[in-house]
Amino acid sequence: MISPSLPSGFTFSQSSLQDYSDCPRRFQLRYIEQLQWPAVETEPVLENERRQQEGQLFHRMVQQHLIGLPAEKLARLANSPTLSRWWGNYLNAIDLRGLKELGGLHTELTLAAPIGTYRLLAKYDLIAVKPGEQAFIYDWKTYHKRPRDEWMAARLQTRVYRAILVQAGAYLNGGNPFHPEQIEMIYWYADYPSEPACFPYNAALYTRDRETLTSLINEIGNHRHFPLTEDEKKCAYCPYRSYCNHGGKAGTLDEMAETELTINDINFEQIAEIEF
Ligand code: SF4
Repeated sequence: MISPSLPSGFTFSQSSLQDYSDCPRRFQLRYIEQLQWPAVETEPVLENERRQQEGQLFHRMVQQHLIGLPAEKLARLANSPTLSRWWGNYLNAIDLRGLKELGGLHTELTLAAPIGTYRLLAKYDLIAVKPGEQAFIYDWKTYHKRPRDEWMAARLQTRVYRAILVQAGAYLNGGNPFHPEQIEMIYWYADYPSEPACFPYNAALYTRDRETLTSLINEIGNHRHFPLTEDEKKCAYCPYRSYCNHGGKAGTLDEMAETELTINDINFEQIAEIEF
């Protein structure tokens, strides 16, 4: 049997790196074999689908508001109690006031940087730049539970987003690369509006992240064997459950542990345009 290997020119993202860290086989199936497998990720299916759609619409509403559409017009799109609550929380959030005065708001921005012979890409909900001073990375989360800050700090998203902004964000800062100390990442939770998770950055963390990401990407590039995770709890929310014959029944949203919250993370390529 021919061993699987990465396609040439493969571009990594925080999601693919996180998949590899959670389960090497999931990385192989999703990114090397590009296998579409129809198992539902959570039960009940309809509730999960609705939550995903609400999350996508919320992301789009916030993006449109930040580029200048009036809040009253966008509010008409909040067509469910959950969406109305998130939208009200967003409009009232103390931590978000003043964002529009910063001047440099870059919504739904993609940055990429080379790591060895591969590329690593980050898709940002919002980078707010105070030119010459600071850059704030905002990521909107519609999780039904608020994860612990220590857990979010260790997520690959937190590491990738800050490191890539240092490496590839100079054009947002008048051509000068940001110093790590100028960067802060903020996860804003739509259901916990006064409890954002804030992660400042510094040179030591940047060096650590560069080393971790380089070594992880080299490891994946050299891998020919992608074993199944030994932690079968990871399978409860994985679309390949029936393919791997690991955990035949989907987990429920309520049972979802911190480690699995991210299955409902929104990637802005999934977000449809709003029609008025
Ligand atoms: S079902 Fe389990 S072993 Fe299979 S890819 Fe998913 S997480 Fe990995």
